[in-house]
Formats: sequence, C-alpha cells, structure tokens
Amino acid sequence: MLHFDSHVHTYYSPCAHGVDKASRPVASPERYLQRAGEIGLRALVFTDHFIEDPALPGVVLFYKGSGEAILGNLRLELDRLPAVQGCDVFVGCETETMSTEWVGVGEAMAKELDFVLVPTTHYHLPGVPRPASYAPRDVARHMLVMLEAVARKPWLDSVAHPFAEIESLIGDLRAIYEAMDKARLRDVLGLAARNGVALEVNASCLTSPELPNYATVFREIVSLAKSLGVRFTFGSDAHDYANLGMTLEAETWITSSGLSPGDFLSPQMLRAKRD
Ligand SMILES: [Zn+2]
Ligand SMILES: [Zn+2]
Repeated sequence: MLHFDSHVHTYYSPCAHGVDKASRPVASPERYLQRAGEIGLRALVFTDHFIEDPALPGVVLFYKGSGEAILGNLRLELDRLPAVQGCDVFVGCETETMSTEWVGVGEAMAKELDFVLVPTTHYHLPGVPRPASYAPRDVARHMLVMLEAVARKPWLDSVAHPFAEIESLIGDLRAIYEAMDKARLRDVLGLAARNGVALEVNASCLTSPELPNYATVFREIVSLAKSLGVRFTFGSDAHDYANLGMTLEAETWITSSGLSPGDFLSPQMLRAKRD
C-alpha cells in the first residue's frame, strides 16, 4: 500500500544494538538496504535518535552520544554501500522534546536533514518532561501541551507515534482520551495542519502488546486530524532489519481508519519541502 518507511533505527541508535545468532548486528544500514531491495521499498528514511548538541546541560542521558558524529558515520557507511535499485535512501532523525521551548533539532539543522521526526511522549526515558501525575486528566493535558509545542514549530516534519506510551506506565489510553479536552485537541490538530506538521502512523505501536488500546484511540484522533487537514507520515519504527516496511496489520488499520495513500507524505515529498 505504501512503498516507503520513514522511521528506521540503525545501530547508531542506543536502543538498536541487537545481534542475531551469528552475532551479526540486526540494525546495520547494509542489512536494511538489502531488505529494502527484497521487499521492493521505493524510499526509506533512517531516523536514528539525534540531538543537535548532546553536550548541553539538560540533555537527557539517553541522548548523550547522539550528536552529529552519528549522522556523519551513517552517511559515510551509506556512501560505501551499493545503491538499491529503485529505492531512494534518506537521512533524517528522531529527536526529542526536552521542554515546550526546546526540541533537539533547531531550524537550521532541520534543513540539513531529510526528515525530522519528534516524539512528545517518551515518558519512560528518565529526564523527559512528564505529566504531573498519571491520573488520566493529567496525562491527557500534558500530551496536548507537548503536542502543541511541536505543532507550533513549522520546521519539524512529523510527530513520532503521537499519544503512544506503554500503558502499564501511563494507564489505559481509553481513559486518557476520555479525559481529554476535545476542543483543545481540535485546536492543536488545526495548528499542526496550518504549520505543516504531520502525524506519524507508527506500525510498531499499532500492534504492540504494551499499547493494547492504541489502535482504537488513535483511529479516532486520526479521523479528526484528517478532517482538519493534517497530513501523515508512515514508519515501522524498526530496530531490526526484519521489521522494515509495511505490515498487513498496519495496512488494514490504515484502510479501516479512512486514510488513503494520498493522505501520506512520502520521503521524497518531505525532502522537496526543503528546497
Ligand atoms: Zn520514539
Ligand atoms: Zn523510534
């Protein structure tokens, strides 16, 4: 259905250091490119965890070591690998929202990247802004505050896995959605639409046993977002080459949510936005 993947972690991400039985890394650029050729992808965007200046005080521990060197090394590796016939390869990132005023990639750096994906709900990472409590009302309010902070910055391309976090941590997502101020949600989504900030459809989150209610709740949000003119990006959030690309479950969910390929921004379109 969608012949691209805009959320892929290589071993330059601290959470993608897995190896197979033969001790070969499962998240090497080389294996991803091979896989992309096998499944017929037409574009893929590498989005390793990246912060423009990880040495700044206040940068969360997880991102120490996630600076420009990883982009340089990834690009070097990609230059040395044979091209995949028919597949465009891009280098973007998944950055972090350190506060409502501070996202890990600024406007100038965003132009040097092909895609900037921004999470707002990495509550499991120590140091990332969290709700006052995990009462549904507090989580709902905080999710909207952080989403608005990203929607306000037009140089950011897409919100990574919006509203997703492990439910054993944040509680039942249906209760959070129930407690959410829907007028405020509408305003924030409208702002995202006006500023060209997309929402990601994240294949991993749709089927994760850790997010049992995500697929149901996100479907409602997506249909409201679409009606307000929000565009979407798609990513597998693969940390292993075997998970690259579209799944049947994601395809079924997308179709049943009323989205069609025309609602999605391809990596080529995101790249073109910069020129
Ligand atoms: Zn993430
Ligand atoms: Zn990710």
